[in-house]
Amino acid sequence: MIVAFQDLVRSNAPLLDELELVLQDVVRNSGGARANWVDRFEALAGEVLGSPCAAGTSCGTAALSAVFRTLALTSEDEVIVPALTSAASAAAVRLAGGRVVFADVESHTRCLDPADVEARITPRTRAILVVHLHGHSASMDALLDIAARHGVPLIEDAAHAFGASYQGQALGTLGLAGCFSLGPEKPLGALGAAGLVVTASPATDAAVRVLIDHGRLTPDLHEVVGTNEGLDELQAAVLALKIDHFEDWLARRRRVAGWLADELAETDLVLPRPLPGTTSSWYIHAVRTRQRDDLRSWLHAAGIETRLPHPIPCHLQPAFATTAQGPGSLPVAEALARELLALPLHPHLGRDEVAAIGEAVRTFERRTERAVM
Ligand SMILES: *Cc1c(COP(=O)(O)O)cnc(C)c1O
Repeated sequence: MIVAFQDLVRSNAPLLDELELVLQDVVRNSGGARANWVDRFEALAGEVLGSPCAAGTSCGTAALSAVFRTLALTSEDEVIVPALTSAASAAAVRLAGGRVVFADVESHTRCLDPADVEARITPRTRAILVVHLHGHSASMDALLDIAARHGVPLIEDAAHAFGASYQGQALGTLGLAGCFSLGPEKPLGALGAAGLVVTASPATDAAVRVLIDHGRLTPDLHEVVGTNEGLDELQAAVLALKIDHFEDWLARRRRVAGWLADELAETDLVLPRPLPGTTSSWYIHAVRTRQRDDLRSWLHAAGIETRLPHPIPCHLQPAFATTAQGPGSLPVAEALARELLALPLHPHLGRDEVAAIGEAVRTFERRTERAVM
């Protein structure tokens, strides 16, 4: 049996007829008045997430960098970023002119370690970027408390976490602003690049909208230097259609995560466990094991596709060498980079496929035990 890591074709296929209709609408309305799919999607996303403001962007990186640009950072201004995340999280700070300070992550949440964040706060700290890695909430009790005590805004990289929550509130709506990637593989994905900024601050929303529209307030007046990074009508139309199916896909992901938990309960793997009082979007199901590379080869031979979620932490990427946070400086992030393995998890994964994953892992463990004896 071949078990695919993702199956976007299977998710999109039932929507083909509906997709064709909305795409026709975009084509018919192009060139003339705006088809207004961007407005429609922004309203729908704001409703689903419970956010008063939602601004579509051309991708998740654009969402993050626009929010950081609203802070008018200089190269002396520090933003604390977890070392274990997509390079895009840290790149956004740099693209906005700020200085990245990496902090370590917790081994249980795999997200920012509040104690390490606190230790890295200086008078130059201008923001804390929380990443809800793999769709599971960071330790928000402690992080919100630190941000409030130091008067530093907290910004959420919720690229993995559309539909996830903390104490009943959507992730992405807990800090000054939340940034989502809506790229094809993300929990809510367009057919190309797309992103979203949500905020309860009308001033931040307005500033983001100006920055991603050439710095314009009105058609001919450029108030600030801006970019062209708004959401396009085509992707907005796709997203407006797909967001209707999101609850169903999320429920399916959660069911698959439950099956994986059952199948792998008796194994030696350390499973992802969302914190109490939170729900996950189950974007990625990454298990932790010292035998990561051997297990990966074994699963590959059994037809089970896996991925390495973040094999090189950000502080060890050449792009961020200027932070001078070398090997050994952020030990938990480095260990997780070596030991995390992402298993297949998508809305259409079957019970039999999950059983095959469980069986393959158990066989691998029996075989390694024998080899050790
Ligand atoms: C995907 C991703 C981004 C960037 O989003 P794009 O839409 O690819 O620009 C940012 N942060 C994290 C954690 C991501 O996974």
